[in-house]
Amino acid sequence: MNTISQTPWLNFIGGQWCEGASGQHIMVSNPATGQPLAQVARAMPQDVDRAVAAARAAFQRRAMLSLTPAERGRLMFAIARELRTMTEEIAELECLDNGKTLANGRNEVALTARYLEYYGGMADKLEGRQIPLGDGLVDYTVHMPFGVSAQIVPWNGPLPVGARSVCCALITGNTVVLKSPEDSPLSLIKFAQACERAGVPPGAFNLICGYGHDAGAALAAHPGVDHIVFTGSVATGKSVLRAAAERVVPCVMELGGKSAAIVHADADIALAAERVARGIFTHAGQICSAASRVLVQRGVHDAFINALTGHAQARRVGPGADGADMGPLISARQLDRVEGLCRAGVAEGASLACGGARVAGTDGFFMQPTVFHGVTPAMSIAQQEFFGPVVVVLPFDTPEEAIELANGTDYGLAAGVFTRDLKLALWSADRLVAGQVYVNDWWVGGVETPFGGTKRSGYGREKGQEALLGYVQTKNIGIRL
Ligand code: NAD
Repeated sequence: MNTISQTPWLNFIGGQWCEGASGQHIMVSNPATGQPLAQVARAMPQDVDRAVAAARAAFQRRAMLSLTPAERGRLMFAIARELRTMTEEIAELECLDNGKTLANGRNEVALTARYLEYYGGMADKLEGRQIPLGDGLVDYTVHMPFGVSAQIVPWNGPLPVGARSVCCALITGNTVVLKSPEDSPLSLIKFAQACERAGVPPGAFNLICGYGHDAGAALAAHPGVDHIVFTGSVATGKSVLRAAAERVVPCVMELGGKSAAIVHADADIALAAERVARGIFTHAGQICSAASRVLVQRGVHDAFINALTGHAQARRVGPGADGADMGPLISARQLDRVEGLCRAGVAEGASLACGGARVAGTDGFFMQPTVFHGVTPAMSIAQQEFFGPVVVVLPFDTPEEAIELANGTDYGLAAGVFTRDLKLALWSADRLVAGQVYVNDWWVGGVETPFGGTKRSGYGREKGQEALLGYVQTKNIGIRL
């Protein structure tokens, strides 16, 4: 399939589907072919104004707050039901505009529905406190919404990453303007359709599709915005934070990673290699918490490299719609960047166990699964996020050295430890500076487990019960009787 439809996909503002004020469109391409796929109405700063005004009006008329918490929860279940009826359609879109495999596309819908159900179930369980002050006084706290929540998401997982923030905001009484990523906006347009069909009040959820430098920047700096959730790169995150600082707007920041798996000599090496391969090659490494560095104890270093390389070379790379194991990178720009970083690694003296270049003979943006060894901590490939299917392996001798290496980047999103020694696993988990630590696996948990960064990987939490606290502010009410 080359194009999905000739008619442009639209923004969703104030409960209406609309073109952008400029009448311009963004052409979305299929990363597996490099060919144009669909046109999306381009939101410009005037459209951001309209969307924020719609969200503000919905907040003022208490569009979400006038529903009981249980009704808000039921609304999330209804969105989940609508979304599930579109599973195949969305899975196909995720293959076509995002480069996901079909299985991954289906998982994204199931995952998003789970977020909606999980937070829908929590809508009537977010309770305040009663604080005893003594005779004649009553004191209690309530969780207040912020108001208009501006949300900006990246291209790698727009549906679940966008929807989880939207549902946290809505069940806590906020209203939302979400900017979809320009490279892969289509699944969020389906999400907006699900919201509309489920009966989300007009203006409570607004979706705009625009470029970051104009629509994204205008949204982050908008005077009508009370709260920001940003998921994306550190560089863009900093510019969003600067805009937020001007108006002292609170932010949840989910930024990049260079997450390390530590493989001790006593570990199940076959298991570690298999889990690390899954951790780095899923969605071609375009996952913020990918297992992009591996620290291997010297005695098992070569065996581990052999096992990991075997998994890398077994991956069938190709269009997700054709049933491949690993799809393309999102764009020619991203492929150039990842390949360029690989060349820099070789120039710095690292060795390639496999991969290191794009897949030849295709117009799609396919990168070979790549394993580097002979890497030292100071090399750029040991420090910079690839956001591609590239893993760097560094040797270590002692557990202390492994921790120092693991913590030795600007990032601190996820980390892992592979060992049969429970004491060593717990000792390591205590010392790893990361928002999530996995033991003997990669990606333990999901919807229910709090996720987020330390250091330059950001702050605030998504997922789990903790996430809700990022969408409310506490008000204390003290009464003299
Ligand atoms: P990006 O920062 O380039 O873009 C993210 C979003 O910000 C896009 O919607 C983009 O349009 C918008 N944007 C760009 N410039 C902007 C500006 N000046 N003002 C406001 N918005 C702007 O990131 P990307 O390349 O799309 O995504 C990859 C990055 O996202 C990686 O670093 C990855 O680790 C990170 N990421 C983090 C998480 C997490 O939960 N921690 C999840 C997914 C991706």
